[in-house]
Amino acid sequence: MAEEKKDKQGFVNPLAGFGVTFKAMFKKRLTEQYPEYKKPTAPRFHGRHQLNRHPDGLEKCIGCELCAWACPADAIYVEGADNTDEERYSPGERYGSVYQINYLRCILCGLCVEACPTRALTMTNEYELADRSRESLIYTKDELLAGLTEGMVDSPHAIYPGMTEKDYYSGLVTEAAPGTERQVAVSKGESASAPETSEGVQA
Ligand code: SF4
Ligand code: SF4
Repeated sequence: MAEEKKDKQGFVNPLAGFGVTFKAMFKKRLTEQYPEYKKPTAPRFHGRHQLNRHPDGLEKCIGCELCAWACPADAIYVEGADNTDEERYSPGERYGSVYQINYLRCILCGLCVEACPTRALTMTNEYELADRSRESLIYTKDELLAGLTEGMVDSPHAIYPGMTEKDYYSGLVTEAAPGTERQVAVSKGESASAPETSEGVQA
């Protein structure tokens, strides 16, 4: 225990107790004014996931479920389906028709990203994942799919003429072919094929 500072007469100096307070007053403040100020995260911070696209807008996810098997928290639910020429979401044979991540379970460990063979799944720096209901914290494919950037056409659409799936992964496709149009989706999505609650991601 620190020895109390006493004067020559043996009385305790009442100002000595303020020493720590005065020292702290001139130190740099550590308090962040969140949410007014949002401190940038480290570049490789593990935040909300994103399902990536190829440069022409087709999806990288092939519905293989490896991410779901790798997840220690059982937070991912995936259903794969076959592409057709009339309705193509990814360059290869299969695509992820249903994709859900339950952020009530996810511990943002990144093992799912490690397991993904196509780099379809990555993590963003977004960390504001709080909400008031269980449903809103089960993110669906529509919420996780990356937005469109220049040169992309939203899926489903035809593969780049003359290119193969391998060409996509070799970086030979850099944008959508001229005249590419979005196909009419008839079987897509969470609403078309997602299970009600019991088979999907458990809350
Ligand atoms: S980050 Fe970890 S806990 Fe979250 S979905 Fe991926 S593997 Fe599961
Ligand atoms: S995100 Fe990757 S690992 Fe998961 S189903 Fe899609 S391709 Fe497979």
